Amino acid sequence: MTKYIYAFDEGQKSMKDLLGGKGANLAEMKRLGLPVPDGFTLTTEACIEYLKHGSKVPEALSEQLNSQLAAFSQRTEKSFSSEEQLLLVSVRSGAKISMPGMMDTILNLGLNDDNMKKLAAKTNDARFAYDCYRRLLQMFGEVVYGIPMNAFDTYFNAYKTQHEYQNDADIPAEGLQEICEHFKGVYLDEVYKPFPQEPFDQLTEAIEAVFKSWDNDRARVYRELNEIPHDIGTAVNIQEMVFGNSGERSGTGVAFTRNPVTGEAKLFGEYLLNAQGEDVVAGIRTPKDIESLKDQMPHVHQQFVDVSQRLETHYKDMQDIEFTIENEQLYILQTRNGKRTANAAIHIAVDLVEEGVITKEEAVMNVEVKSIDQLLHPNFDKTALDHASVISKLGLPASPGAASGKIVFSAEIAKIQFEQGESVILMRPETSPEDIEGMVASEAIVTTHGGMTSHAAVVARGMGKCCVTGCSDLEINVVDKVVNYPGGTLHEGDMISVDGAQGDIYVGEVETMKAERSEAFEQFMEWSDGVAKLDVRMNAETPQDIQAGYQFGAKGIGLVRTEHMFFGPERLVEMRRFILSDTQDKRIAALNEIKRYQTADFEEILKLSGERPTIIRLLDPPLHEFLPKSTEEKSSVAGQLNVPVKTLEQYIENLNEVNPMLGHRGCRLAITYPELYVMQVEAIMESALRLKAQGIDCQPEIMIPLVSTVAEFTTLKTQITERIEVLQQEAGESVNYLIGTMIETPRACLIAGDLAKECDFFSFGTNDLTQLTFGFSRDDAGKFIGAYSEQGIIDIDPFQTLDVEGVGQLVKVATEQAKAANPTLKIGVCGELGGDHKSIQYFNNLDIDYVSCSPYRVPGALLSTAQSEVEGGRLRV
Ligand code: PEP
Ligand code: MG
Repeated sequence: MTKYIYAFDEGQKSMKDLLGGKGANLAEMKRLGLPVPDGFTLTTEACIEYLKHGSKVPEALSEQLNSQLAAFSQRTEKSFSSEEQLLLVSVRSGAKISMPGMMDTILNLGLNDDNMKKLAAKTNDARFAYDCYRRLLQMFGEVVYGIPMNAFDTYFNAYKTQHEYQNDADIPAEGLQEICEHFKGVYLDEVYKPFPQEPFDQLTEAIEAVFKSWDNDRARVYRELNEIPHDIGTAVNIQEMVFGNSGERSGTGVAFTRNPVTGEAKLFGEYLLNAQGEDVVAGIRTPKDIESLKDQMPHVHQQFVDVSQRLETHYKDMQDIEFTIENEQLYILQTRNGKRTANAAIHIAVDLVEEGVITKEEAVMNVEVKSIDQLLHPNFDKTALDHASVISKLGLPASPGAASGKIVFSAEIAKIQFEQGESVILMRPETSPEDIEGMVASEAIVTTHGGMTSHAAVVARGMGKCCVTGCSDLEINVVDKVVNYPGGTLHEGDMISVDGAQGDIYVGEVETMKAERSEAFEQFMEWSDGVAKLDVRMNAETPQDIQAGYQFGAKGIGLVRTEHMFFGPERLVEMRRFILSDTQDKRIAALNEIKRYQTADFEEILKLSGERPTIIRLLDPPLHEFLPKSTEEKSSVAGQLNVPVKTLEQYIENLNEVNPMLGHRGCRLAITYPELYVMQVEAIMESALRLKAQGIDCQPEIMIPLVSTVAEFTTLKTQITERIEVLQQEAGESVNYLIGTMIETPRACLIAGDLAKECDFFSFGTNDLTQLTFGFSRDDAGKFIGAYSEQGIIDIDPFQTLDVEGVGQLVKVATEQAKAANPTLKIGVCGELGGDHKSIQYFNNLDIDYVSCSPYRVPGALLSTAQSEVEGGRLRV
């Protein structure tokens, strides 16, 4: 019989698939002898079975639940009905991959009208007992019966205001009793049934609710965003309650073993006395810094410091720990690898290596590729900030970044406006899991309540989104849609700027500047480079981009798209003259002009690259891309070229293609106009020779695009090499150059062995290769890819992440054939997929030499190949 339930002392940390992250770590902590309240875990398999059987509890699970409860009662010597030894439990979900705020928690389960009285009598604290009961009524109502949070909160807050209670903890027992009575009425009003008084019914209903919540909308959205599979299910943890709300010697808190924002090696956390569960993260009261626990309960503080160090060393990573103190007794309720900013991730990884806790290879695995991308994001320009007018300075820098956008007050509006192309900033008193889609759609999130571990802070950090929480000097009124700040009022649609690194908010748009990289970043990238198998080159043409790419560690240029260099107005005129000329002489005259520009450009590019390989691709797009479209443009071009508009229109008509992507483009252009590539090659070689004369060696690699047959390649190669030989002879000098081809058509993949014999290098153009393999136009696929993915016809957009079965197979076959035919052939990938993490994992396993991507993706790509290498087990960890 399948075992659906494990007691904590039957599990361990390696059982995450079955017990979920929370369950496996609770078991592990128990194994380590840490103070963890006893409990048991219903497996992820139980959840999957439950959902598979149309939300019915499998019989075997019911039986096991009964026997587990009996064993649990024996171990704890408590039961749901005992006068003296009353058992109360928490029910918490926990998937394999942590999904903060996505699933639900119920505390104090087991309480009912009777048990509440027993608890009050036993603890001699009626206030405490009513507080536990009202929390259960509220959480159970929301999670299990879907009663809107407002149905409880509105009454609770009105009650506090009416009686002038500042904090929840100020409400006396009688007040809480009144509130409990009202809450029970809410059940009847909202769901027409009473709160279940039988603890076992509460437990089974709660378990089922957690299972079902795996399929709720916000959990689905979170999984889609984070690429978490939908079929792995969640575990459910049942744990004996400990009470942080049992007076001023009790409390609850959350702490990170290091600062999750900066990475500083110092305990970082918050706690509240006389509080329970979600109070800290919900931002209802402002929590205290963990440091001050030292004054309030020194021995508990010391014990917590010891536990947190032990957990960090054990898990070899920064931990995010939830704890509760009951009458000065510390309990650990959860530990997991903490979410952190990109900057913190790098610092923590580097520090842990330097402290001897982890190896460099482990450090490489501890930083997510998307963190690297975040680090390269811009900050606000310092001078612009000095002139900007600040509206809030009291906020907490919850997640770094710099963002400007229009104010919106609801997740829904954020989503709508984002879809209309607006940049928006979501402003809310606090956020909750329902806001997730609005948070995704926003440039930044601002809240007035909550601390560094509030929902907004944790979720935004995970998303790499700029966020400022706890702006207590702002009043965000979501009903009237206004923000009041000390100097005035802002309305929906007004522009603000948010500084997530400082926690400040400004009115209007503030200019941004590039990110600065730290020493730790450089160190980390050096280690990644040491581990990586593939080289990473960049796709770039402009000096700024090339410089940025080299600073980010690119090993060369994998693609200069020469057509990108034709778009300046003076160049465009000449290009148009070339395209629209009716005689070869006129065409050559135009080309000579273009060549002047190209030579200067290539000289600059090759100089910046020096001896690093630089692939320059000869002209690729269909010629009509360079022609005027509108009537005004046409008449202006006719004037420039000194031809009547009618004649121009006739030329344009002649060039028109029904299917330009499959038409007169790539090497086909040079088959019909050989002088085009010859001109470009002259420009490349002349600039290389000129640099050589100045003592600068360079390594141009000339690339012919969209080849499908060996003869296409050899015809053009002969023309090119003949010209190069002449130029070298004339100069009395030679340049190290290579000639290769892009592999962009399925046919080229299938004849890769024959092509390889003629080529010095291959570069897979996966954009075109994907287009031609699927027959999906890369320009129009957006019209149907969404429907394909919604209907589960494809899992991923193959233009963003490699289609392993089809396109990946072609790349594999071509690489194997090519290397077998020409072992010295260099092979790279320069389409979009060259910068994509998952695609790189695949390429890393082939006999490929490098990937190439846009400069800002270079460090991420380097880390991807390093991680693939460590994961591939080639390096011992
Ligand atoms: C490709 O097709 O993958 C490629 C890099 O070339 P382009 O995107 O310029 O067609
Ligand atoms: Mg292409």
